[in-house]
Amino acid sequence: MTRLPTGFAVLDQPAAWERPRVSCRPEVLNRPLEALRGVGPSASRRLAKLGLRTVDDLLGHTPRRYESAAPERRIADLLADEEVAIAGVVGDVTVRRPRRRLAVVRAHVGDDSGEVTAIWFNQEWLATRLAPGTAVRLRGRLQRGEFHVRAYDFGDALATADYAPVYPAGEEVTPQRLRALVDQVLPLARTVPDPLPAELGPRLQLPLKGDALYALHRPRSLEDAETARSRLALEELLVLQVGLVRRRKELEGEVAPALLPADELIRAYRDVLPFRLTKGQEQAIRELDADLEQPVPMERLLQGDVGSGKTVIAIYALLRAVEGGFRGALMAPTETLAEQHFLTVESFCTQLGVTCGLLTSSVSKRDREHAAEARVVVGTHALIQTGVDLSELAVAVIDEQHRFGVEQRKALAAGRRPHTLHMTATPIPRTLALTVYGDLSVSEIAELPAGRRPIVTSWVTADRSSEAYRRLRRHLEAGRQAYVVCPLVSESVTIEARAAEQEAERLSSAELRGLRVGCMHGKLRPAERRELMAHFKDGQVDVLVATTVIEVGVDVPNATIMIVQEADRFGLAQLHQLRGRVGRGAEQSYCLLISQPKEELTETATARLEALVATTDGFELAEVDLELRGAGELLGTRQSGLTDFRFARLVADRPLLELARREAAALDGYEGPLDDEIARVFGADP
Ligand code: ADP
Ligand code: MG
Repeated sequence: MTRLPTGFAVLDQPAAWERPRVSCRPEVLNRPLEALRGVGPSASRRLAKLGLRTVDDLLGHTPRRYESAAPERRIADLLADEEVAIAGVVGDVTVRRPRRRLAVVRAHVGDDSGEVTAIWFNQEWLATRLAPGTAVRLRGRLQRGEFHVRAYDFGDALATADYAPVYPAGEEVTPQRLRALVDQVLPLARTVPDPLPAELGPRLQLPLKGDALYALHRPRSLEDAETARSRLALEELLVLQVGLVRRRKELEGEVAPALLPADELIRAYRDVLPFRLTKGQEQAIRELDADLEQPVPMERLLQGDVGSGKTVIAIYALLRAVEGGFRGALMAPTETLAEQHFLTVESFCTQLGVTCGLLTSSVSKRDREHAAEARVVVGTHALIQTGVDLSELAVAVIDEQHRFGVEQRKALAAGRRPHTLHMTATPIPRTLALTVYGDLSVSEIAELPAGRRPIVTSWVTADRSSEAYRRLRRHLEAGRQAYVVCPLVSESVTIEARAAEQEAERLSSAELRGLRVGCMHGKLRPAERRELMAHFKDGQVDVLVATTVIEVGVDVPNATIMIVQEADRFGLAQLHQLRGRVGRGAEQSYCLLISQPKEELTETATARLEALVATTDGFELAEVDLELRGAGELLGTRQSGLTDFRFARLVADRPLLELARREAAALDGYEGPLDDEIARVFGADP
């Protein structure tokens, strides 16, 4: 739960806390972790893998959770092996090094009832803080007569011993080690300067940053911990939002061609569409039209689930440019995706007498010349940017927006700009869209075309794959068609293609014997792919064995069943995309996921497959994906700088995000200490 932060009652007590007078200097926070005791080059490499490089990283390493409070015992009442907390005063302290890599610190600790030897391993530096007479609170267990300490507080009794932080750790760095390291830097926490605009803290009753950092690691209660995290998350979100406001401002100075309202060509387009547009599509078109009529470059994100009909809207936007006497371009992140889109776009263009060209590095010189003249160009982002005169473009549709980083978007922004429609085939939670694309307007196609039935998904393990293939055959006997997807993920398209062909051959003489099998992979040229797709559409091919190239653009409503081999090797978003190739008509469709035996699956692979069986809602799946993978990965590494939050949780922190948006809008013209952080997140020139 997100709580809007207010001050910490306890931390604000002057008796408990002497406020530090001086703020620490930034150099101190930027110090590499090797500066810490006990951290050598190899440990620092292992810490770097967790994203921990500097003192500041360590201070911001947010606990995954906190242990619940342990019952308190008098020392005389300690029972072996029971996890408890004790409070007492330190007597003698000894340090021994029985082996090269082992340091043991022992301290006698006594309370009114008795005495016990407390023991720590590999935290030699603690000895200096355990001066005789120091009050301590320790959490741990009595084992062979000694109290093995897991968490501790020194001096004024704090709360580690109760709500011990459990840090995200890795195989190479244990949570205990992290706890000890954080402990070393923690005295700095409360001297960290507060970069928030001065009026904000008191008005929103925010605790100081230093207090929040301290409480994050040493909360007095779980509420304290959450208050601290929220305070830090708010700052993080504010940095992002202020940066986004600035970026939007920059765009306001740019011009784009203002297009006249839709006319003949669009009417003709609506006529060739074999269906009525859904309400969501009409709404998106209205929003689009309103933007296109302005001389300000549109920056709009179109999101909708797989099969919701985004392509129809993309083509609409391209044709609006053509109708206005300009050109339209559709840009995809990869050649394969560009080729897939080209097949769809070209077929509409041909029907309407509009020239359409493909621009990728593998097209022939002649095709390239054709593309240079065509009214509608489909290609990879890089090629269109270099090969097409931007001033002729009125509309650019960018597919898979999230695979483009900020830099690419900025590059497009040079000089006069086309109206830009960003499409995401992987819908992301609206919360996330607001955050990451806070400078874009969002159109959402919420519903699927009428008559669609949710795809029924089942998950079977490989030992039962023959059942899956029997089901597939039954569908084919009933006149349907099918896909079989193989997880051939190779660096080389050639290797992938060969493996796909071998698998198609194997299947045709085994599970798919007697059926007409086609094989689709990234090595096919657009013309070959078009021919194969045409055969599949006509029903001359029963089963398409394919690599993930069928992830987008493949559209055959009579194909109603899909088998995904080794489904545990695919990501959640990708499986959802693949599954979207069926369920495109009125017939009930099925998706059969085949995985390794359950015992051999990782926890997240199991969670992914379970989520797919449970729902066909892309937004819900995106939330699950976000939880399983974290935002950075969901958006692809390129843009992770924007979502690499240390404190914010995108799904849960919606109220904070909205607060940050409001405050950022009000901070118009802000200049101050947040600028450094904004520059770090947005690159040197936000
Ligand atoms: P998306 O790109 O959002 O995954 P597509 O644009 O590829 O979806 O559309 C999916 C399928 O639905 C295609 O077969 C398309 O022709 C069809 N379709 C799109 N809009 C409609 C509609 N309004 N009514 C019926 N079918 C539609
Ligand atoms: Mg599509």
